[in-house]
Amino acid sequence: MRTIMVTGGAGFIGSAVCRLLVGEPGVRVVNVDKLTYAGNLASLRQIEGDENYRFHQADICDEAAMLAIMRSQKVDAVMHLAAESHVDRSIDGPGAFIETNIVGTYRLLNAALIYWRELPSDKAECFRFHHISTDEVFGDLPFDSGIFTEQTPYAPSSPYSASKAASDHLVRAWHETYGLPVVLSNCSNNYGPYHFPEKLIPLVVLNALDEKPLPIYGAGANVRDWLYVEDHARALFAVVTRGTPGQSYNVGGRAERTNLAVVETICDILDDKRPRASGQSYRDLIAFVGDRPGHDRRYAIDPAKIGRELGWQPLETFETGLARTVDWYLENDWWWKPIREKAYSGERLGTNVKS
Ligand code: NAD
Repeated sequence: MRTIMVTGGAGFIGSAVCRLLVGEPGVRVVNVDKLTYAGNLASLRQIEGDENYRFHQADICDEAAMLAIMRSQKVDAVMHLAAESHVDRSIDGPGAFIETNIVGTYRLLNAALIYWRELPSDKAECFRFHHISTDEVFGDLPFDSGIFTEQTPYAPSSPYSASKAASDHLVRAWHETYGLPVVLSNCSNNYGPYHFPEKLIPLVVLNALDEKPLPIYGAGANVRDWLYVEDHARALFAVVTRGTPGQSYNVGGRAERTNLAVVETICDILDDKRPRASGQSYRDLIAFVGDRPGHDRRYAIDPAKIGRELGWQPLETFETGLARTVDWYLENDWWWKPIREKAYSGERLGTNVKS
């Protein structure tokens, strides 16, 4: 039995990782999450009674608590997803991003290093610290050329991406300086079930159902690569179990879309599945809003290495994954309604709408 500690397991991607791991033979999951506004135990309802699943409410900035959990649970690997993750919130209040993403990662690394040094040599050799990061650390690409590889220099633009870049550097330094067996992965934009309703895709689906404006920054020309969250979770499992210590792996869906194309595709799916009473297309609700400061034009990521070395490929295309996602939101209002009903502050996209 291998015990994997997942930080941020009550979040969007972390909960998908926990749901996947609990179904893997011989894997026990210890989910460690502070339960910020983004953490939601309802996302784990299907596994909460499983004998191979444990939850601890704790802060990654609390080094002693992290070390105590590693020791008492005898963890074999740490998958570190806990973070402040919303770019707009990082513009309005960068402090929490510095605290959790940089200082928190530093504290967690310290705890992991102490714990790893105490392990017998056979266990120490197999131990992994897997740091989960974003393609946003690589910065801005022109619209018509370039792709991020594992060798691309870091050039983050937002407080969020700068804080993630700093944490990536710390993780590499703990490998180079202290020998901690780390692996890293940098992934493009995720979408799928249990995505917090302030993010673009769920926001558009749910605003459309409420007949509210569908906000798009600028002219909607910014390009992102999109990956279905369950494909990302499978990639992360491949990296933590089979990745080479000291290496990083880019993860993406080879699915570049402009923001406008994403929103229009959602409208088309909804026109088909849940036509408006007025008979008009949901596209009529699209509203262009003032652009985000420091908005990178394009991210595009080359996932060739993880395909070649670890045999990972996404199972969903953008179109199949998006249709599944829309279906999920149509069928699971028990999950998103309570969140939508709470007013969440700092939500630029939801409030800054010029119709
Ligand atoms: P999320 O905001 O949905 O979840 C983050 C989780 O971390 C929440 O459950 C929250 O309660 C927890 N958390 C926050 N601060 C904590 C702390 N101090 N101690 C313990 N737990 C804490 O984020 P997500 O979208 O699931 O992203 C997870 C990770 O993946 C992040 O590191 C993010 O940078 C990275 N990532 C996200 C994407 C994406 O498209 N969402 C893409 C690439 C990489």
